[in-house]
Amino acid sequence: MRYYNLYNYKRLPYIERLTAEEIHAIDVVARVFPFKVSEHTVSHLINWEKGCDDPMFRATFPHRDMLEPKDFQTIEQLLSQGASETAIAAAADEIRSRQNPDVSGQRALNVPTLHDSSLQGMQHKYRETLLVFPKEGQNCSTWCSFCFRWNQFVPGSCQRFSNVQPEEMLDYIKEHRDITDVLFTGGDPLMMRTGSLAKYILPLLSPEAAHIRNIRLGSRMLAWDPQRFISAPDSAALLELFRRIQGAERNLVLVAHWLHPSELQTPQTREACRILRQTGVQLSGQTPLLKGINDNADVLEELWREQTALGSIAYYMFIARDTGAHKYFEVPLIRAWKLYRDSVSRVSGLARSVRGPVMSCRPGKIIIDGPLTLGTESALALRYLQARKPELVGRPFLARFDDKATWWNDLKPYGASDEEFF
Ligand code: SF4
Repeated sequence: MRYYNLYNYKRLPYIERLTAEEIHAIDVVARVFPFKVSEHTVSHLINWEKGCDDPMFRATFPHRDMLEPKDFQTIEQLLSQGASETAIAAAADEIRSRQNPDVSGQRALNVPTLHDSSLQGMQHKYRETLLVFPKEGQNCSTWCSFCFRWNQFVPGSCQRFSNVQPEEMLDYIKEHRDITDVLFTGGDPLMMRTGSLAKYILPLLSPEAAHIRNIRLGSRMLAWDPQRFISAPDSAALLELFRRIQGAERNLVLVAHWLHPSELQTPQTREACRILRQTGVQLSGQTPLLKGINDNADVLEELWREQTALGSIAYYMFIARDTGAHKYFEVPLIRAWKLYRDSVSRVSGLARSVRGPVMSCRPGKIIIDGPLTLGTESALALRYLQARKPELVGRPFLARFDDKATWWNDLKPYGASDEEFF
């Protein structure tokens, strides 16, 4: 599959629609936030008439405002002075180190251990669900510009999750009978060839792993490269693997990431959804809320409606995490709640399956139930959907009202009884 990055994107015929200033900004910002865009994305998703304002362009290409002005100038000056690649990389590293690269402490906090050895390449944050990061799946066909795993794609990064072996995964699962769900994530696990993916999945179909009921694949392949399911050399083998999983009485869920209704409107994605559903795989969808991409109730309404009609169960609307170019994409929590409420109130009950807005943060997954008034004061009602401490799940609690807050760290307990939740 062909893709475009800093070194070849100027070959794209569409680039002539951008101004020289916009192209210069891409050249500068890409030194800090590298990009990679699939052929399907540039040919079928980006509306080049809109240039840098197009939502799918913003979701994929770097933009000047992703960097603080002083950081932009630093890289710009180095490039104009003809500085060495080493000097540019060092400056970019320094800028990235200030962008919260290890979001939510995930690298240290969630690593499971077996027989006193830590198992890299897996995370076990919630009792029932094990996350697996296969080595061969630590890439994506397009790198989303807002991705909270952005630092994985930086050359030489030490932030990659990988190296887990299928045998280690199975050994851990055998010892933990509470695990019912295994989520393969990355990167994108469907970047793997089918043979590699099967090495991880087939052990989960064995009698020793009978307690595994749901196998999830977190993937944006349906949006960024739907041909993966239609005409890739191993598409047929992949669909056969999916049928085999269903035959083994495991529920296979493809958790697709949807950003915008335009992704669901290409003939390729519609065909891929149709083919996948014939294998018995359950499609579900999750969506990060992003400024300039989908922070609009009409867009969200259409997104919930379109995916439901294609058989993808709308699952989560997430708040963008506080990492990378977060300032560029962030939406205040109160506004996010209003967008959720406005969009969901216009769709049928089937599409109201989407839960949001949700912050997936260090202590767990927290849903924002909305603002309320207590006497003369306002507060924000919240609830844990998932928590490191299961006893916190489902109990309402309050934060002080703050219409500027964009992330969990900005919130403060409303009263003394709310402190245990923070
Ligand atoms: S597909 Fe997922 S993991 Fe890959 S860049 Fe996009 S958000 Fe990140």
